[in-house]
Amino acid sequence: MELQAQLENMRHYFESSTTKDYFFRRQQLKKLKASILKYEDELYTALYQDLKKSKEETWVTETGMVLAELNVAIQKLGSWMLPQRVATNFLNFPSSSRIVAEPLGVVLIIGPWNYPFQLLINPLIGAIAAGNCVVLKPSEFAPATDAVMKKIIEEIFPSQYILYVQGEGQAVIPSMMNNFTFDHVFYTGSTSVGKIIYKMAAEKLTPVTLELGGKSPCVVEADANIKVAARRIAMTKFSNCGQMCVAPDYILVHQSVKDKLVEELKGCIQKFFSDKPEENYNYGKMINEKQFDRVSEYLSEGKITYGGRTKKEKLFIEPTILEHVSLDASVMKDEIFGPILPILSFSTMNEALAIINKHPNPLSFYIYTAKYATAIKWIKAVPSGGACINNSSWHLTNHHLPFGGRGFSGTGSYHGKFSFDTFSHKKAVMKTPTWFDPAMKYPPLQGRLKLLKRIIR
Ligand code: NAD
Repeated sequence: MELQAQLENMRHYFESSTTKDYFFRRQQLKKLKASILKYEDELYTALYQDLKKSKEETWVTETGMVLAELNVAIQKLGSWMLPQRVATNFLNFPSSSRIVAEPLGVVLIIGPWNYPFQLLINPLIGAIAAGNCVVLKPSEFAPATDAVMKKIIEEIFPSQYILYVQGEGQAVIPSMMNNFTFDHVFYTGSTSVGKIIYKMAAEKLTPVTLELGGKSPCVVEADANIKVAARRIAMTKFSNCGQMCVAPDYILVHQSVKDKLVEELKGCIQKFFSDKPEENYNYGKMINEKQFDRVSEYLSEGKITYGGRTKKEKLFIEPTILEHVSLDASVMKDEIFGPILPILSFSTMNEALAIINKHPNPLSFYIYTAKYATAIKWIKAVPSGGACINNSSWHLTNHHLPFGGRGFSGTGSYHGKFSFDTFSHKKAVMKTPTWFDPAMKYPPLQGRLKLLKRIIR
């Protein structure tokens, strides 16, 4: 069947109200969980093939994370769906008021390649929980994972409910968005493509969630626990070969502790990935030649004080520390999205903020310091999507926190209940009894200004 006809079918299916039922939604979430577990081994193989992700890393950042989200949604769905009773103001006495969560309709979810499973399926959980029909568009650049996800989805869901659409984004997405009116578009990917999606959505006044990228700065203050900071920075910076949207993009370290931090980082990298990371089970690879070439270019833009080796045939770039980097260099202008860590030093907070502010609204901001007051001062000074104190990236694994950017790093958020909210319309419903109907509310209002001022204030 043609794509256009399939989308129209989805609209009809949504209008049948089947997807709105609590038991239906819960059953679909359970089916999804069972299907993921059935294909768990195939997912490990696929993610190794696409990104050389180890089973353990796959569990922490892909499958395990998705299953944890599913468990929360299955457990909490009933309470999320309950209409929320709220207070009613004096003007509307004796009415009662409720907020009712309604599904949006037919929604489009577009995924990237760096966490190809988690970043497509996690939003799907929210969309199913909220009672929508969903079109899933995975990235074409993680083909092995794409093939397994297609099986996971198509084996359990009819296409009029969840439609899995493969293909090149540039061709497939405009053809869908220009010819069909989605009720929401949830996009994860680069800021440049995010702008294209936003423009297409604006043509039809379709609301969007944009989960974008950018440069997430990491500040290490003079009083930080350097040993712990180095370990936590190295872990997330070089995980998935640096291809993580919330990876610390670059470090701003107080000049008094810079040498110590660099030494500790070197020790951590060796400990985590050995002297031969290209052969190490725990270390990934670049997704493709295009990304390998792009990231390799940055190696010549500073002094390599650790790493720097590459092997194109293996899409391997060594975890690398780069010093003496110019602020005008591409590595300090682009989102790095690879295993290269520029380290810059600062002596005053203002000096560091001037560098951070060259890229406003980062997706995440990390501050390492012993003093809570210092951390708060930094967090207030850097308007970011999310932030961690003495940690990097792990905030996104807590489903009690909303995950998303702001401004250039995105709009909207998800995870846990926030996903349900993202894919729901919050309808305001007021119920007014008929036994009380004061005449003063009705025209002619002339002469009642004083009284109205007393009631409405
Ligand atoms: P991308 O923007 O190239 O692709 C994302 C999706 O958009 C893919 O499905 C692709 O097919 C589609 N697409 C590509 N070009 C298109 C076009 N011209 N028109 C319509 N659709 C198009 O992103 P990517 O390279 O897959 O991912 C890397 C980027 O994503 C990084 O910037 C990273 O920071 C960001 N990211 C953000 C998050 C987050 O949660 N905020 C998570 C992961 C990645």
